[in-house]
Amino acid sequence: MTQKHGISFEFFPPKTAEGLDKLITVQQKLLKKTPEFFSVTFGAGGSTRDRTWDTVMKVREAGIDTAPHLSCIGQDEEEVRALIHRYRDAGITRLVALRGDMPSGMGIAQSSLRYADDLVRLIRAETGDHFTIEVAAYPEMHPQARSFEDDIAHFKRKIDAGANQGITQYFYNPDAYVYYMEALEKLGVSAPVVPGIMPITNFANVVRFSDMCGAEIPRWIRKAAEHYQQDDASLRAFGEDVVTRLCERLLALGAPGLHFYTMNQAGTSLRILDNLGL
Ligand code: FAD
Repeated sequence: MTQKHGISFEFFPPKTAEGLDKLITVQQKLLKKTPEFFSVTFGAGGSTRDRTWDTVMKVREAGIDTAPHLSCIGQDEEEVRALIHRYRDAGITRLVALRGDMPSGMGIAQSSLRYADDLVRLIRAETGDHFTIEVAAYPEMHPQARSFEDDIAHFKRKIDAGANQGITQYFYNPDAYVYYMEALEKLGVSAPVVPGIMPITNFANVVRFSDMCGAEIPRWIRKAAEHYQQDDASLRAFGEDVVTRLCERLLALGAPGLHFYTMNQAGTSLRILDNLGL
């Protein structure tokens, strides 16, 4: 298989300068896969605004497009506007635009930016076509959506507001992606939607994240992982095999790229890409 698919890698902003140095070592390993872009997450309610900025500025030094994530829920519109301009003035050309979630215990501040499509509209109003805008997509449905139909209608609204493409929440069932893409096509949405890939490195963490974000772990994966729980090497090999096959299937189905949730680690993503011959 030749590399015709766009690969991207997602990082979260480390808490310390030492952590950032370590992340750059991870990034250097990932560079050999010539990614289309790196992205850096943004903490709920703006909690990592400065760390996201610092990480983006460091990561982009490698000369690869680097996209800050930006979420709007609970944020003051003026502050969001200022941050959009600051990124534009710094030469950033891609943003991942999200609603985000409020940290538990924090009430939702009144803001004109309630959903991600409000943020996409604001970015376009402020900066025209300067940014390529990525938005979130949920083949297994966002946990707060009223229905699957409602959720894909909301995805369409983000594209209609000016987003260029979607990146999905991770999933382990490729049929969910097929069904989602067909549903979008019926709505007349032709924007590319890149599957988000969560390598299985630490199974307990994957279970914890999945419970929070509504991603389903199929029973056969849970059962096999339970079986291997005392045997790290077998669990790792099993996880790599499952995710490699998932990626293979998604690419064969025409997925336009793969976006890796790296958890700031290089090893598993690299081995999966090696297995894929990418
Ligand atoms: P929206 O698209 O606004 O949707 C949120 C919910 O509201 C959905 O249920 C939708 O169906 C519904 N909805 C949308 N519009 C309307 C409307 N007009 N009326 C009624 N209901 C509506 N979180 C972070 O905190 N930081 C990150 O960096 C981050 N990065 C992410 C990257 C990716 C690729 C993905 C898939 C998720 C990421 N998240 C991140 C998680 C994300 O913030 C949460 O899933 C959040 O709950 C929803 O954000 P959204 O942008 O999808 O919201």
